[in-house]
Amino acid sequence: MTSYQTLRARHITDFGAATAELLGRVDWTPERLAEHRRTELRRLVRTARAASPWHRARLREVDPERLDVQSLAELPVMTKDDLMANFDEIVTDDRLRLDRVEAHLDSLHGSDAYLLDRYHACASSGSSGRRGVFVYDWDGWTVAFLGLFRHLLRRQAGGPPTRMAVLGAAKATHQSATMPQTFSSGVVQMRRFPLTLPMPEIVAGLNEYQPSVLNGYPAVLYALTHEAVSGRLDIAPGTVVSIAEPLLPEIRAAVEGAWGAPVLNVWGASEGVSASSCGQGPGLHLSDDLAIVEPVDRDGRPVGRDRAAAKIYVTVLFNHTMPLIRYEITDELTVLDQRCPCGSAHQLIGDPQGRLDDSFRYSRDAEVLVHPHLFRSALGARRNVIEYQVRQTPTGADIAVRCQGPVDLAALGDELRAGLARLGLPGAEITLAPVAHIERHDSGKLKRFLPL
Ligand SMILES: [Zn+2]
Repeated sequence: MTSYQTLRARHITDFGAATAELLGRVDWTPERLAEHRRTELRRLVRTARAASPWHRARLREVDPERLDVQSLAELPVMTKDDLMANFDEIVTDDRLRLDRVEAHLDSLHGSDAYLLDRYHACASSGSSGRRGVFVYDWDGWTVAFLGLFRHLLRRQAGGPPTRMAVLGAAKATHQSATMPQTFSSGVVQMRRFPLTLPMPEIVAGLNEYQPSVLNGYPAVLYALTHEAVSGRLDIAPGTVVSIAEPLLPEIRAAVEGAWGAPVLNVWGASEGVSASSCGQGPGLHLSDDLAIVEPVDRDGRPVGRDRAAAKIYVTVLFNHTMPLIRYEITDELTVLDQRCPCGSAHQLIGDPQGRLDDSFRYSRDAEVLVHPHLFRSALGARRNVIEYQVRQTPTGADIAVRCQGPVDLAALGDELRAGLARLGLPGAEITLAPVAHIERHDSGKLKRFLPL
């Protein structure tokens, strides 16, 4: 095995070599983009048929050489349940057994690490509440990161080195925790501030670091605007990146008011599909060169532009290790029928609205705001927790968990109580109840966080 630092140094070099190409694709003509999507779709389906037994059986009637983006809808749809039930047969490297990937994820204690000197793995329950495990190959990890942040990097290009503060997951099972560890370099420096830290510590850290870019969940950015207005937080970021959750208009206004900085809204899923605003127009550019997104209604019928889709089918073009072809993601997106003033041919989507603010507010001596991430990271890191629902109570939370296999609920409760205590809620009452079933919305979505 090669040491982590050696691999990371090599990865940063490869990242630097790939950056210009990936940034340049934003300016591709519609024709060049369409040609690339067709070529890459065919290449992906060829790989899936050659190296994935599960896909081979499902796609045996498909001729990759005749396949087109328009005829993609003739292919079967796959779900997260399909992925998790057939994981070993879907991945294209026989060494990537789910047990092995899960054991790797279990071994990450806050630190990024390579699997088999080549792969990165992450776990996420996404907005559907069902846990999924995803593996990226060497180049796929680089491309996924650039897909999320290339519009930001384009804005930073030619300026001084970027100093990005990343306010994200504490657990290394989540991309937002590991990608900054992999790719932080002299040119794009990234420092993580795990959300499990108490706010005064985050504020002190940011005051010391003086980031040029502030990157975090909207609820956290919102909390930081209060710290800035109070005078405790004294930073001057040139750009603010809002990621992972709906950016409500009042939060955008508060951020712009606090720092006078533009807010880039970034949306991404652990599956590798992403979109980012460029800072010049409304909405976010889909990474059309990296994934084909089909907006559909609840029954899977195509939804036209300017109409909200109940879910999307995603075909990820760049990560052949885990071919995701027409993979269902239950995020609500609206593809806009307009071009951006920046001129990019990459389609625009409206600001993802998704769920409303899921943060829990508790009244103690002062109001304590608890981001759902505290719960999500603890629950999501346990491989046998399949689904969960967290219901706020006046003194803590009642949590329903659907498990598959043993879970140490006592330890989980202790971890959550300790996390809440650090945030200013000592003695919180947490109950954890194993359940056989969690009620879903008609859309198939699970409302995971129920504030009081
Ligand atoms: Zn644009």
